[in-house]
Amino acid sequence: MAYYASTHPEGRQPGRHFLQIPGPTNVPDRVLRAMDNPTMDHRSVEFGKLGQEVLANLRHVFQTQGPVVIYPASGTGAWEAALTNTLSPGDTVLMCRTGWFATLWHEMAQRLGINAIFIDTDWRRGADVPAIEAKLAEDKARTIKAVCVVHNETSTGCTSRIDEVRAAIDRAGHPALLMVDTISSLASIDYRHDAWGVDVTVAGSQKGLMLPPGLSFNAVSEKALKASETAKLPRSFWDWKAMLAANATGYFPYTPATNLLYGLNEAVKMLLEEGLDNVFARHDRFAEATRRAVRAWGLEVQCAEPRHYSSSLTAVRVPEGHSADGLRAAIAERFNMSLGNGLGQLKDRVFRIGHLGDLGDLQLLGTLAGVEMGLRIAGIPVKAPGVQAAMDYLAGNA
Ligand SMILES: *Cc1c(COP(=O)(O)O)cnc(C)c1O
Repeated sequence: MAYYASTHPEGRQPGRHFLQIPGPTNVPDRVLRAMDNPTMDHRSVEFGKLGQEVLANLRHVFQTQGPVVIYPASGTGAWEAALTNTLSPGDTVLMCRTGWFATLWHEMAQRLGINAIFIDTDWRRGADVPAIEAKLAEDKARTIKAVCVVHNETSTGCTSRIDEVRAAIDRAGHPALLMVDTISSLASIDYRHDAWGVDVTVAGSQKGLMLPPGLSFNAVSEKALKASETAKLPRSFWDWKAMLAANATGYFPYTPATNLLYGLNEAVKMLLEEGLDNVFARHDRFAEATRRAVRAWGLEVQCAEPRHYSSSLTAVRVPEGHSADGLRAAIAERFNMSLGNGLGQLKDRVFRIGHLGDLGDLQLLGTLAGVEMGLRIAGIPVKAPGVQAAMDYLAGNA
């Protein structure tokens, strides 16, 4: 049994595995080759140069002039870092229940002793901006210390408008920090840490950044840094202070994930070579082609608000009486492709097509072809050829 690049129970399937879950994503060969090097002394002069280069270049990806902290951890660790560096026990934060990932962040906040207020949604759109504004306006005593929003809710394929959340906080004249989870949007969907006045941006390596899992990030504003001076939640591993002190010369307070940093340096170079605007436009185009395929099949996209359509993934609802997990299993077995499952209340009701990271037109079309054939095999009625609709769009919109 080989635990790589195959989902077939019998073992090896020829050809490349299609890893079309919305993260981890396909790691480009250039990044794999960059990581395939001897691990270096993380206190060496050479390492300091690598550290300085990658920490500087990374800022472009977050569209910030401020520091970006790198942890050897999954995205969940960077959630914890954002909360523990800025808040004190019993502090109140405002969160938006846009889906499964927002729910997990909320649970974490409560476990850490934070009083997390939740604004609900129907999991078919992004954060409810008027509700955020109303809660902040009501909060005359200014007890709310932070507003926490998941930019791209990976469980639903809905993207919240962070620019609008920022404007709502400003209209309410509220001093709360703004914290944003960009784990499945950074380097896929336009995101501006500085311009949108975000205080802590949370990100991970394994989605738009085209790396394996294992790194996560906090971009930190001056206001957040100031809050960290008086924040009382216990923290040690996650503490920004020691991290930023060591980062100033390109080093880390504990052993960094050296080989992942080689990969990160290469991935960031690739993103900047392509140009961030081109990267975002590519993702927008793939998302539109995918939605056209879904509509042609006669299926429904989970996101019900076109202004919130995600460009990094599309969650597709299966008709009543059919199983999304059965469909995914058939596609894995027959076509060696992984698709995302439904999470939480969407279990077995949706499947998710990841179209983020290192992806070209033909990979997207291969993905959609696998879905279309899978729908037929699983007996889910298909109205018209979706792949044709996607091809028409891609060929007509270079
Ligand atoms: C993937 C994801 C996470 C979880 O990150 P891990 O790396 O699995 O800890 C959190 N939030 C969002 C929006 C995600 O897409």
